[in-house]
Amino acid sequence: MSWENSGLPMDNHVHTEWSWDTPGEASMARSCEQALAVGVPSVAFTDHLDFTTWTDGDRISTENLDPHRYSRMHPLDVDGYLATIHECRQRYPDLRIFSGVEIGEAHMWTASASAMVAGAQFDRILGSLHAIPFDGRLTATDDLFRQLPADEVMRRYLGEVVQLIEGSDLFQVLAHLDFPRRMWPYTAGPYEERAFETEYRAILRALAASDRILEVNTKSPLVSTELVRWWREAGGRAVSFGSDAHQPWRVGDKFKLAVDIVEAAGFRAGRDRFDFWRV
Ligand SMILES: [Zn+2]
Ligand SMILES: [Zn+2]
Repeated sequence: MSWENSGLPMDNHVHTEWSWDTPGEASMARSCEQALAVGVPSVAFTDHLDFTTWTDGDRISTENLDPHRYSRMHPLDVDGYLATIHECRQRYPDLRIFSGVEIGEAHMWTASASAMVAGAQFDRILGSLHAIPFDGRLTATDDLFRQLPADEVMRRYLGEVVQLIEGSDLFQVLAHLDFPRRMWPYTAGPYEERAFETEYRAILRALAASDRILEVNTKSPLVSTELVRWWREAGGRAVSFGSDAHQPWRVGDKFKLAVDIVEAAGFRAGRDRFDFWRV
């Protein structure tokens, strides 16, 4: 299916075999084939840029937090990743392929992250928060739900997202702004965005003030049109679509639904098909 027929936006958030948390089926080449099959005009391969050891100048070193949450975490092999990008660009000339990374906790890894980003000239840089300082460790959100009431986890997380935005200007797009919602326990009742409206609005204000972009993430439960309207009210001008695919079949997943939500909040396709959607 061609992009002209599909009307879908580009997928700005896709993981490949170069991310430390992808399964064996992950493949940049197969993700390109999927993009062509579903009709997204382009993909950005945004593999995880996570760190397990600090250098001088990283905030995490002064706070003395243990950062190593999962034994399988390892740094991105940027050269290997870029070589695969190059191969895929040769192999799929009809698909525009953007390079990129998803930086985890960029405000904690200021020095390490800027050193990586400065050398590589990525097309897309996503910022995300998967873990927050708690109990002397950078603690993963699934772990937090075992230790704190669910609404307390969300409040702490959403508060830390403001710290991330204000503490790092390395990234352009804020990925999955309410990531722990994926793990919201059913025992806590249905998840209600409005219960956290104050916290969401603080995030959206900080993001708009620094002229950055909100991602609508289709791996997370989809945000409401109301939340995307809060983004506009905060001064937000642009939205990015991201499947956060860790397997090729998920590229462009649920994009039609996401487009409906974003259009209902008043955003439209941008200047060209590789642009973000804008008001
Ligand atoms: Zn993420
Ligand atoms: Zn991701």
